[in-house]
Amino acid sequence: MDKETSILILGAGTFGLSTAYHLAKAGYVNITVLEKSPTFPPELSAGNDLNKIIRAEYEDPFYAELALEAMAAWKSPLFAPYYHETGYLLCNSAAAPEKSKNSLLKSLESIRRRPAFQGKITPITSREDIRKVAPAFTGPMQWKGYFNSFAGYAHAADAMTAVYSACIALGVTVQIDSAVWTLNYSGDICTGATTAGGKQYDAAVTVLALGASLGSVLPEIKRQVVAKGSPVAHIQLTAAEAASLRGIPVTYARDLGFFFEPDPRTHLLKICPSMAGYTNYYYGGTSLSGLSLPPDDSAFIPARDEAMVRRLLRETLPALADRPLVGRRFCWCADTADSEYVIDLVPGKKGLVVVTGDSAHAFKMLPTVGGWVKDVVEKGRQDSARWRWKEGSDAAGADISWRVGKTTDFKEVEAEMRRDPEVVKAKL
Ligand SMILES: Cc1cc2nc3c(=O)[nH]c(=O)nc-3n(C[C@H](O)[C@H](O)[C@H](O)COP(=O)(O)OP(=O)(O)OC[C@H]3O[C@@H](n4cnc5c(N)ncnc54)[C@H](O)[C@@H]3O)c2cc1C
Repeated sequence: MDKETSILILGAGTFGLSTAYHLAKAGYVNITVLEKSPTFPPELSAGNDLNKIIRAEYEDPFYAELALEAMAAWKSPLFAPYYHETGYLLCNSAAAPEKSKNSLLKSLESIRRRPAFQGKITPITSREDIRKVAPAFTGPMQWKGYFNSFAGYAHAADAMTAVYSACIALGVTVQIDSAVWTLNYSGDICTGATTAGGKQYDAAVTVLALGASLGSVLPEIKRQVVAKGSPVAHIQLTAAEAASLRGIPVTYARDLGFFFEPDPRTHLLKICPSMAGYTNYYYGGTSLSGLSLPPDDSAFIPARDEAMVRRLLRETLPALADRPLVGRRFCWCADTADSEYVIDLVPGKKGLVVVTGDSAHAFKMLPTVGGWVKDVVEKGRQDSARWRWKEGSDAAGADISWRVGKTTDFKEVEAEMRRDPEVVKAKL
């Protein structure tokens, strides 16, 4: 492909930014990225977060291999300042369902024999084992699982800003506050996109990287991807409290939820409940990102998820279990039925590539995913069957093996969204 080919990337989240970076690094000089959010890092991006887990264990060894490649890239100069190898405590509580236990075993199996993990994995069978790797934890923790010292977390928003700056330095144009409204075609050739403000962008190649909002611009995707939201909450610690938790591992009780070392700058401790995700069929047959939903759902998490967060804290850090939750929000991802990404040309269209189906496990691939998109853009085809367009596949009712619990629709928590105090009280 001619390095001057005009390339339009829609969405400056994890996939879009990484794509821009890899294409620009390969010498492409005519790249424009359109992003709906008015600021950067994009407030609507699932990647714009305090921190994300970076680990290689997967139920599927194929992704374990990819995650290992990504982890090597997290140690390269651009990404290393944002990667913190605190280790990863992966367990199940005594009450965990079989599904959760099986998922943990499969994950362990994907890394156990690999050379990179020799001497890095310690079985966890008691509270004392946990206190050896996390002495600050004082809760009862009747958990079983393992501690993996070759894993940690990334400061997600800062890493995105670093990639953004690298893109700008390489000559990429990033237009924020530019919501894509429609794709433009000449026959079956995609010629670019038009924003909600009516501005038309022409390009020879258009890459769709719209995360959980993809279906609003590309209805052809149908239920291959289903937007699912997961609640996120934080606890505001004092500087002294944050210091006392410095260096704790990323802690994930598969059936309860996970939390991270507190942020050194803000002293916020991020915590997410374990759950199967909320769909949002508010707009009809397609589940889309609900961030723009009225009323102010960004400051809301359902009572049952709050209860789960508090259970996780009671098990580990009981002194924090009744603290107010701050920075409550929903984070939206695009699930596929088999948790595989889709990186392919849109069938029946020329010059239109889609990168989607992150299935809530793709931030760790920020350093590498754009390289896979670049290959598809350059070859004009997807060689891996795993990542092809999955015509007819329906992620809506799929039972995702690693997700614990049942997918619920936002409608079921609508009354809480309206902050009906009686409903919330009854559920807590
Ligand atoms: C609670 C939670 C925890 C997670 N934890 C982890 C973790 O620990 N480790 C991990 O690896 N992954 C994690 N993930 C998953 C990870 O965040 C996602 O897989 C990844 O960010 C998806 O990238 P994306 O580019 O597809 O979507 P996004 O990053 O959401 O990017 C999509 C972009 O498109 C923009 N956009 C939308 N509509 C338009 C439009 N019309 N015009 C222009 N722009 C538009 C959005 O504003 C956004 O910036 C987590 C996700 C959630 C929800």
